[in-house]
Amino acid sequence: MNVGELLKLDHGHVWHPYSAVGAGPVYPVISARGVRLTLADGRQLIDGMASWWCAIHGYNHPALNRAIEDQLENMAHVMFGGLTHPPAVELTRRLVELTPRPLEKVFFADSGSVAVEVAMKMAIQYWQARGQSRTRFLTVRNGYHGDTFGAMSVCDPVTGMHGLFQGSLASQLFAPAPTPAFDESCSDEDIAELAKLLERHRDELAAVILEPVVQGAGGMRFYSPDYLRRLRTLCDEQGVLLILDEIATGFGRTGRLFACEHAGISPDILCLGKALTGGYLTLAATLTTREISETIANHPPGVFMHGPTFMANPLACAVANASIDLLLEGNWQQNVARMEKGLENGLAPCQELKGVIEVRILGAIGVVELERPVDMAEIQPALVEQGVWVRPFGRLVYLMPPFIMTDDELQHLCRAVVQVIGEHA
Ligand code: PLP
Repeated sequence: MNVGELLKLDHGHVWHPYSAVGAGPVYPVISARGVRLTLADGRQLIDGMASWWCAIHGYNHPALNRAIEDQLENMAHVMFGGLTHPPAVELTRRLVELTPRPLEKVFFADSGSVAVEVAMKMAIQYWQARGQSRTRFLTVRNGYHGDTFGAMSVCDPVTGMHGLFQGSLASQLFAPAPTPAFDESCSDEDIAELAKLLERHRDELAAVILEPVVQGAGGMRFYSPDYLRRLRTLCDEQGVLLILDEIATGFGRTGRLFACEHAGISPDILCLGKALTGGYLTLAATLTTREISETIANHPPGVFMHGPTFMANPLACAVANASIDLLLEGNWQQNVARMEKGLENGLAPCQELKGVIEVRILGAIGVVELERPVDMAEIQPALVEQGVWVRPFGRLVYLMPPFIMTDDELQHLCRAVVQVIGEHA
């Protein structure tokens, strides 16, 4: 199919994320290698998005390709009901070893949103097994947890999709978004509202759910690990479970393997996804404790009621194993620290630009917050013109590149962002 035909068919029939069919320009990509996407017209773009946080090792990595090819020789897929296989069990062992204690029971799901649904169902079933009907969740504003119904119900009620799906979404509780900055401590006052809601509603709350340290798609906000520490204590005092959604932050992005390590805490339920497979295939995992899994198992119906068709897909598990090995065997910490410096230096000139409110960096995440929403029709082609792939949203232009990006490539990326914001914000 030639490019003209491809774009015509795409324009006529294909839905893209958060879009209408035929709505906006899309750029045909024919290959991706390292940190570069190659467009059909031959242009190469340095990728600042890692395909929405996933492609931490870059594209077309020989070790990841090999893992999939090797697995393909044995089987691409087999149902997980009543069967098991080495890639899933090996991945389970790695995840149990890597994640904070006492997480040791792993449920594989097919996307981040589903991992969140699974986490919420686990919490509800746990309380049911204990003879309590607790079905509500408490979260903070500015959160994002995915696009399925349970996940949507705990996304920010204003910027999320609550208005659109009113009547279909469960009614959850929302505390203000955490305000203390990453390097600040958290005062009683900073967490007072959340503490009040927790105390008042503890008997109906299945869990508190939030993204640790970095709120991603709900505003790219960073907050104090001390807030998380205090939240952990409050949950323990009130007897409410804590679910941490590390789907965006997991696997090194914030400078720690998992963002909850900044706070030195462990959740009762943890959601992982995105970079789990190095961006190759869709796979997510929900981990929990022995206590939660045994409580569910020891009361009727005695099983956890979820089981996706493609649960623990062997290809996805095989590439996840290879991606984790690559991460641990490489010097990801140095790379992320190097990127943090590169983003700090590279995006610093944005602070002087008109229309910029704040520049913030944490690990391999760089965010430029603007006064006004960007005009995508204008800014997207301008960024592509500069040879970079960056996909802003709302008032945010942000970067989360693959960890393998060189200093020169990162400089190019940042210079492009500075120039385009200077001309278009
Ligand atoms: N949770 C968080 C924190 C996310 O950032 C995302 C996706 O951006 C999700 C959940 C949903 O993941 P998925 O898009 O794989 O369903």
